[in-house]
Amino acid sequence: MMDNNVKTAMVGTPCQILAATKINEYSDKTGGSSIDVKIGLFCMENFSYTYLKEFLIDKKIDINDVKGFRIEENKFKVILNNNDVFMVPLSETDSFKRKNCDICLDYTSDISDISIGSLGSPKGWSTVIIRTEKGKEIVKNAEKENYFETKEISEKGKQLLERIANQKIQKNLENINLREEVSRPVIYRRKISDDEIEEISSECQFENLESDVISEGACVLCGACEYVCPIDIVKIDDRKPQKFGECKEDCHACYYACPRTFLSKNILGYDFEEKPLGDYLDIVSVRSSKIKGQDGGAVTSILMYLLEKGLVDNVSIVGEDEDISWKPVSRLTNDVEEVKKAAGTKYSTVPIGFKALEK
Ligand SMILES: Cc1cc2nc3c(=O)[nH]c(=O)nc-3n(C[C@H](O)[C@H](O)[C@H](O)COP(=O)(O)OP(=O)(O)OC[C@H]3O[C@@H](n4cnc5c(N)ncnc54)[C@H](O)[C@@H]3O)c2cc1C
Ligand code: SF4
Ligand code: SF4
Ligand code: SF4
Repeated sequence: MMDNNVKTAMVGTPCQILAATKINEYSDKTGGSSIDVKIGLFCMENFSYTYLKEFLIDKKIDINDVKGFRIEENKFKVILNNNDVFMVPLSETDSFKRKNCDICLDYTSDISDISIGSLGSPKGWSTVIIRTEKGKEIVKNAEKENYFETKEISEKGKQLLERIANQKIQKNLENINLREEVSRPVIYRRKISDDEIEEISSECQFENLESDVISEGACVLCGACEYVCPIDIVKIDDRKPQKFGECKEDCHACYYACPRTFLSKNILGYDFEEKPLGDYLDIVSVRSSKIKGQDGGAVTSILMYLLEKGLVDNVSIVGEDEDISWKPVSRLTNDVEEVKKAAGTKYSTVPIGFKALEK
């Protein structure tokens, strides 16, 4: 399916990082991917592009006049090109929030090499959670090469991070319980062994993904099912994945890859509520002097470092559609200028993450 020598660094939300992990963990079933470095973002929730645009129209804001979005102090802020700021309490974003986010238990991309967000650090800095030895080497060497400066996160910042991660988990566990009272089990929250995964998944095809995930409002639109399908019969529109044709006999790739089917203890050995920030080696605050990012520019400067030093061949980023303002588009690139252009958070989901990966 892919060139084994190509190395890709991927940036994504926790659910996309989980999908990338599953694609590689079950590579004998899914064909694997070139993803070698996983940079996960913190993520409380995400939004539908179509409904976000409608919300703005309702508020008499043209999305073409928007310079950026921020979520701070429990408010959703829209920064306009003339620097005016329109804001609403986060509780008023329900009309464009994606419902699948209500059952998500991962705030800090726990199974990445490096996780990055803003919470816990001063304005203009990124909070960087270093999780793996690979991640540690990258951060250490990129700092040495002057891509950014680091400082230890303050105790207060770390406590805030733990508190908010825990809040997300507790709130969404309640949502899961409420859903399960009237609907089918939210299966990704129950960790099972690899043997059980094999036993269940080897019986499942796209129809099971539809009944267990898509029709349950659990699909995160990550694009993993579309990417792994060996006969390209899965297509994703703005709302959900659909199948056009008959499944290949004995293929179960999409069920294995989906981040909202069963999760094995091998991928995540503990329950999210036990460790709100996951396992990590260190947490630091990072500020880049090279670029202006959403926060401290940590993501972009790490991607630039990886490309410029030849540590990866390409990076998977989420940039903006050339013609449609703020519509996120996933791209695979080795062009540093394009990476810089993709800095900044696009607060909406479309089928992103894997679409750009070459098979
Ligand atoms: C949906 C969403 C919700 C978030 N919620 C929180 C939160 O609750 N708390 C918090 O502290 N941080 C949150 N973040 C992360 C935060 O907004 C910044 O992305 C992060 O702090 C990195 O900043 P930076 O300056 O280092 O990144 P930059 O250097 O600006 O780079 C940002 C990178 O993010 C990628 N990206 C942009 N939009 C998306 C997207 N929609 N999906 C996947 N990748 C994307 C781009 O490829 C770019 O490389 C969220 C991010 C997203 C996408
Ligand atoms: S499901 Fe929603 S809240 Fe969870 S990581 Fe994905 S986009 Fe973020
Ligand atoms: S052939 Fe069917 S089961 Fe296999 S990946 Fe495609 S949609 Fe899924
Ligand atoms: S159904 Fe497909 S797009 Fe939706 S979460 Fe699962 S793998 Fe991702």
